[in-house]
Amino acid sequence: MSWVREAYYPSWQQSLRVDREVFRRQSAHQEILIFDNADLGRVLMLDGLVQATERDEFIYHESLVNLAWASHPAARRALVIGGGDGGCLRELVRHADLEAIDLVEIDGAVIDASRRYLPSIHAGAFEDLRVRVVVDDGAAFLERSRETYDLILVDAPDPVGAGAALFTEAFYQACRRCLEGSGVLAAQFGNPLLDEDGQARSAARLAMAFPAVAFALAPVATYLGGALAIALAGERPPIRRREPTHVLRWYDAQRHDGMRLLGAALDPSPGAVPHLPGLAAGTVAVPQAMRTH
Ligand code: SAM
Repeated sequence: MSWVREAYYPSWQQSLRVDREVFRRQSAHQEILIFDNADLGRVLMLDGLVQATERDEFIYHESLVNLAWASHPAARRALVIGGGDGGCLRELVRHADLEAIDLVEIDGAVIDASRRYLPSIHAGAFEDLRVRVVVDDGAAFLERSRETYDLILVDAPDPVGAGAALFTEAFYQACRRCLEGSGVLAAQFGNPLLDEDGQARSAARLAMAFPAVAFALAPVATYLGGALAIALAGERPPIRRREPTHVLRWYDAQRHDGMRLLGAALDPSPGAVPHLPGLAAGTVAVPQAMRTH
């Protein structure tokens, strides 16, 4: 038994107990560590940063995928950038009306290790006939892509190393170019309190690329700080347009609206209010201290 320390922020860190090391390898891109923890289940860390734990990954993956899916009237084609653990794929393949699902992950070693050691996270989704896996830098892929998508899910790590390319204005512009008219982008955006400055800069870049930007806030305990912002962007305000088609562990229509309500405080557009169906403008008070603009 040993401990691994996640040290992303200089003055606030967390430690996770490694009850059984399952896999450790230095790939061409990063150190991959998979281990078991008595409370969290199987854990994936990359370069010392928590990516997913069996205990709460469903909150993150169900939310990222379905906040976008339900904001589109009839999505058929989806793209995941990053996401080599297969959690987003798992949630996408549940949607029978999706016809094509591409995943572009920079590190083939993450996919290989996840397929072997994280079966509860991908749940066999890599085998779905609609799924195409590309090992490439997501930013470079989109830059030259002529494909178009209804949903782009940016299942990115923190904006360090190769992950930094997934938070630039050029990347967001490329995403917009590859989205169909009603297309929706959903991107993990870090912790709103601890990443406040970086998040405000990323939000400004996103708002330069897309006419409509909104946020949701998901409770994911093992991402330090416990609250994860998810950015939504498109040509039109990403209101919820569809009811869930299946029962999930975390995500449902009520939680969709609740996560959007909480995320409204992060909206970069001046005077923004949540775009919730049936909610009158201005009925939600946004604490001034939470504003990032
Ligand atoms: N849910 C996680 C989080 O919030 O930390 C993200 C998990 S997912 C495993 C992140 C993946 O993005 C990693 O496997 C990493 O290799 C991949 N990645 C990092 N930079 C990338 C890039 N530029 N293009 C494609 N994939 C990238």
